[in-house]
Amino acid sequence: MVIIRRYSMVLIAALVLFSLYLASEYHYLLFHYLAEIFSITVGFSIFIVAWNSRRFLDNNYFLFIGIAYLFISGLDILHTLTYPGMNIIAGSGTNLAAQLWLCARYVEAGAFLIAPFLLGKRLNPYITFLSYILVISLLAGTIFYWGVFPDCFIEGTGLTSFKINSEYAICLILAGSMVILIQRRRHFDSGVLKLLLAAMAITIASELFFTIYVSAYGVPNLIGHFLKIISFYLMYKAIVETGLVAPYNILFRDLKQSEDQYRDLYDEAPNAFFSVGIDGRIERVNRSATELLGFSVSELIGRPVLDLYADTTSGKTKAQDIFNRFRSGQEVHGEELEMRKSDGTPVWIDLSVRPILDANRTVVLSQSIAVDITTRKQAEERIQQQKELLENTLESLAYPFYVIDASDYTIEVANSAARWNELMAGSKCYMMTHGISQPCSGPEHPCPLEDVIVSRRPVIVEHKHYDSQDNETNIEVYGHPIFDKEGNVTQMIEYCLDITERRKIDQMKDDFIGLVSHELRSPLTVITGALNTVLTEGEFLTQEAAKQLLNDAALEAETLSHILGNLVELSRAHADRLFLYAQEVDIANTIQNTIGRISYDPELYQIEVDLPNKPSTVYADRIRLERILRNLLENAVKYSPEGGRIQVSAKPDEENLIISVSDQGIGISATEQTKLFASFQRIEDNGLEEVGGLGLGLLVCRRLVEAHGGRIWVESEPGKGSTFSFTIPL
Ligand code: ADP
Repeated sequence: MVIIRRYSMVLIAALVLFSLYLASEYHYLLFHYLAEIFSITVGFSIFIVAWNSRRFLDNNYFLFIGIAYLFISGLDILHTLTYPGMNIIAGSGTNLAAQLWLCARYVEAGAFLIAPFLLGKRLNPYITFLSYILVISLLAGTIFYWGVFPDCFIEGTGLTSFKINSEYAICLILAGSMVILIQRRRHFDSGVLKLLLAAMAITIASELFFTIYVSAYGVPNLIGHFLKIISFYLMYKAIVETGLVAPYNILFRDLKQSEDQYRDLYDEAPNAFFSVGIDGRIERVNRSATELLGFSVSELIGRPVLDLYADTTSGKTKAQDIFNRFRSGQEVHGEELEMRKSDGTPVWIDLSVRPILDANRTVVLSQSIAVDITTRKQAEERIQQQKELLENTLESLAYPFYVIDASDYTIEVANSAARWNELMAGSKCYMMTHGISQPCSGPEHPCPLEDVIVSRRPVIVEHKHYDSQDNETNIEVYGHPIFDKEGNVTQMIEYCLDITERRKIDQMKDDFIGLVSHELRSPLTVITGALNTVLTEGEFLTQEAAKQLLNDAALEAETLSHILGNLVELSRAHADRLFLYAQEVDIANTIQNTIGRISYDPELYQIEVDLPNKPSTVYADRIRLERILRNLLENAVKYSPEGGRIQVSAKPDEENLIISVSDQGIGISATEQTKLFASFQRIEDNGLEEVGGLGLGLLVCRRLVEAHGGRIWVESEPGKGSTFSFTIPL
């Protein structure tokens, strides 16, 4: 192709030159005219190309030469018009034509000489232009105005020595320019350099031919003009090459490179790229898109993009909305959507869509970028689940739980058990827990946060809290430090246990121990006193007195044993180890036996027993039955300080034997009656002083009656007396 083109160019050139030759054969003036017009046309073209491509010409050499050719061609026009035979301008003839010719050649050679020195320098095209105008005007003035330009041709003698020497001088200038050009060749593409050197060499050759012609119509003149045309053409080639072809090549090369880069970027990008048409079908995808969705390129191209989204609000519904937005020309950024892979598994993407517009600013395509955020989404979901789990765990705790900012006491997290008043997370811990405006302090109310910051360990402090009704509660506050990477305490986990009940029980235990010691001490004092008296002073005592003392000791020992017995029964009942040893028990016998064991003043109390004929026996644990009766009888005595009648009766109903003990003592109010059979219940302000007791007797009775399958109750009126009754199943 290149060869054909080159040969056809050579052929055309040869044809042009041959036609010119034919023209010269026909009429030399015509030839001259055509040849000059041809080179003038090329000269103007050189200027036009150089001028218009001056932005691409990265060296000023060509712009300077290009502008020169405008003026050279101008001079050549004058030369053509004054050529012998043209008869257009007055004074035309070989001499004037040759003078103008010489001017043109001097300008040409001068331009070639100066141009290399402008390489790498700034050149103002307008100043250059003005400089040329000045030079040309001066030259034209020497010929047309002042007439001082030396003669070049004298009719009859031919070329003057000035003309011939000038041509040699021009040749020398050109040769010098070639040398300078070769020295500065690094500024030129090698092809362009060759063209320039060839143009100059041919100009030199052309000049040499012009030194030898005798007639303006002779053969040397003809060859000289041919060579001039060739040199102009080569110059033109050099300028076009530099000003147009090379820049375009560079432009296209850059364009090609950036297109290749874009394609590589598109295809190999780690994120999925989709180009979706206005009809919603995929037009182009990259490799990451196929990997993201598990479809091949051919499966994706042409497919409606909405098909790829999950059938959910965060899938298809959202995608449809984004598609509508893109169609109306909106850009979309950072939207999270759920897609489906080819195997149906979900994949989450972060989607950005940019509409691509055509020249009429109509949306024609969307360029979408999808970043796979499935792992992040799953992690977020897991974190959310864990957060919910943690929140639920905290909420399920029955005791208050907080996370407190160590720097300013602010509550960051609080469960609902902690939010007992209106203050919510974000308020200070001391406000929330105590409703005070300063952090807790002092040994009575130490601040757990301060303790944690100082000790850097978990701490436990005890606080008193007051609720909205001012009820006091004892709270055990647990503080646990949370550290940052540097080991500073940033937060404290705090939870509070209500230990009010524990404190109450502790108090009850203490009271009970005191009570028991007191209850045991009185009979023990009597026993040790009596025994000591008998032992130390026995010889001084009558037998009667000694016996009485020993009797007292035995009775108190019995009381002691009864108290301890009650305690033992109770602890058995608590431990669920209250086992009965039931047998036929004679009722009358058991009651009499029990009455015999209690201590009372027979002068104050009359104890009456009222029994039925039948049944005379009952199936029960005799020892436990005696204990029940003894507790009730002792109470009847204890709480009837004035004495009175105490009646023990038994009567059967359909299923049970009902045994009652009634007295005429102080009685019990209705409200107190409800509490009597619970642990440690004693009526403190019953008006009696120094009536000992542990508050356990009735509880023991209830446990033992219930162990027999019966029940126990009281009927009483304050000041009138009480009747305690219990049943034993028959
Ligand atoms: P205590 O060791 O105090 O007598 P009890 O359990 O036997 O313990 O009785 C509980 C309380 O019931 C007594 O403290 C007393 O106030 C009241 N109580 C019991 N029996 C009578 C009664 N017969 N008359 C009046 N009050 C009684």
